[in-house]
Amino acid sequence: MKGMLVIISGPSGSGKGTVVKNLKYALSISVTTRKRRETEEHGVDYFFCTEEEFIRMRENDELLEHAAYVGKFYGTPRKYVEERIDKGEVVVLEIEVNGAIQVKEKFPDAVLIFLIPPSIDDLAKRLAFRNTEDSLEIEDRITRALEEIELIDRYDYLVVNDDIPVTVSEIETIVTAEYLKPHRSKDRIEKFAFAKTSNIAEASHQI
Ligand code: 5GP
Repeated sequence: MKGMLVIISGPSGSGKGTVVKNLKYALSISVTTRKRRETEEHGVDYFFCTEEEFIRMRENDELLEHAAYVGKFYGTPRKYVEERIDKGEVVVLEIEVNGAIQVKEKFPDAVLIFLIPPSIDDLAKRLAFRNTEDSLEIEDRITRALEEIELIDRYDYLVVNDDIPVTVSEIETIVTAEYLKPHRSKDRIEKFAFAKTSNIAEASHQI
C-alpha cells in the first residue's frame, strides 16, 4: 500500500506545532529563512537557512512546495517526503494554506486538515503568551490567520484544537478512515478481481 500525505494547516497560534509533534507519523521538517526562536533547534523544528540557500534549493527543484509567510520563505524538502511515501508511511506536513493548495494540486490523494483554536480571542492570547514575536508581527499573523480561515473550503477536514490529546486522537481517526477508502486499497480490490476471473472452483479447493 502506498503512503499517505497529511497536510495540517491553521493560523499561527492555533497550537498546531504541539499537535503535530504528538502524532505517531513521520513529520517533515521544513526549511525557512525566518530567524530561529530561542526554543527552536536547527534540524528539529526547521532547517534554518539564508535567502540565497533557499533560492538555490527552489531552483534545483529540491522543494515539494514553497510559500512566503509574513515576509519570510518556507518550503518542504522533497526528498524526505518522497522516500517515506514510497515506503508506505504516513507523512505529515505542517504548512500554510498556499503550500497546502500546491500539494493538493500535485497529489490529489493528500488529506488536508485545517486546525483552528476555539476562538479568535484564544488565538491572540496564544500568540501573546508565546512571547516570540513583537506586537507588529503578532498583528500581521492575526491578519494572515483571518485570510487563511477564508480558505477552509479547500480543506477536507476542520478540527477545533481545544485540547491536545483530543485533537491528536481526532487526527488519527481521520487518517484511519482515509486508509479505509476504497481508492487507497486498489491492490486489495485487484486480488478479488483476479479471483473472479480465475477458476473459482479451483480456488475454493485450495482454501
Ligand atoms: P512559524 O514561523 O510560526 O513557524 O510558521 C509560519 C507559518 O508557516 C505556519 O503557518 C506554518 O504552518 C507555515 N510553514 C511552516 N513550514 C512550511 C513549509 O514548508 N511550507 C509552507 N508553505 N508553509 C510552512
